[in-house]
Amino acid sequence: MEAGIERYTSSVTLSYSQLQLYRRCPKQYEFAVIKKIGRPINAGESFGASVHNTLKKWGELEIERQQSVASSQLLLFAEEKPDQSPLTTDHLLTLWHQSFIVEGYATRAEADAARQRGEKVLRAFYEWWQAEPRRVLIIEKGFEVAVDDGTITGRLDRIEQHPDGLHVIDFKTGAPRTQDEVDADLQLSIYAMGAVQLLAVPCAKLTLLFLGEEGVTAMTTMRSEGQLKDAKIQIRALIDRLESGDYHPTPSREKCRSCPYRSVCSASAV
Ligand code: SF4
Repeated sequence: MEAGIERYTSSVTLSYSQLQLYRRCPKQYEFAVIKKIGRPINAGESFGASVHNTLKKWGELEIERQQSVASSQLLLFAEEKPDQSPLTTDHLLTLWHQSFIVEGYATRAEADAARQRGEKVLRAFYEWWQAEPRRVLIIEKGFEVAVDDGTITGRLDRIEQHPDGLHVIDFKTGAPRTQDEVDADLQLSIYAMGAVQLLAVPCAKLTLLFLGEEGVTAMTTMRSEGQLKDAKIQIRALIDRLESGDYHPTPSREKCRSCPYRSVCSASAV
């Protein structure tokens, strides 16, 4: 059995991020997962983790408020009432500063600039968030989907209940993608399967929420049964290649420029 791939009886289990790394470049997967060559977190990853941690805590606060409203009828005569005050940008920015990760930045000034950029990003998120009523069902929850004899694990950022059904929302801190890319995105197909595994209901909408300083870009798509079947075939083919030990590099300037293993990779394009 190869390192990095977990086998339980006869099935293989790997995370979506491992699968994504293999799709990006099998050699990079080999360095990271098989050879387990450590690397420091970079500034982009650090910023993304800080934003995700903030929005996780924010979502938990939303769920607390929802539950306190639901239980308020039962607590009419209680001395201590649950907090039902509206959530504000001040709440959100407090969570941001509590959640900010300083690792990954080259200098203190770079970290301070990221902290300020995050404030702008989260103010833009708040504008998006308050534009319509939201009922949150799930925040940051792990799932497992079966693909033949294999299992893909992942984590959903957020699921909301709306009149038209479940909306799966994934937060992104990178640049927005094209609609064609979002429509073909394998991660969203896996998330659609994950939502069914967690809530036993197909989702109505899949949204990538790109969080930027200038505003939020929500790119929405859906998946049919046929598309989910195709996604499973695609995943199965990737698992087969991975299990065969195919780690041929797929270099490109764009990929290698941001690859943390370029200094030890003989195939690097930069
Ligand atoms: S440097 Fe390029 S080819 Fe080498 S592992 Fe990284 S992405 Fe792959």
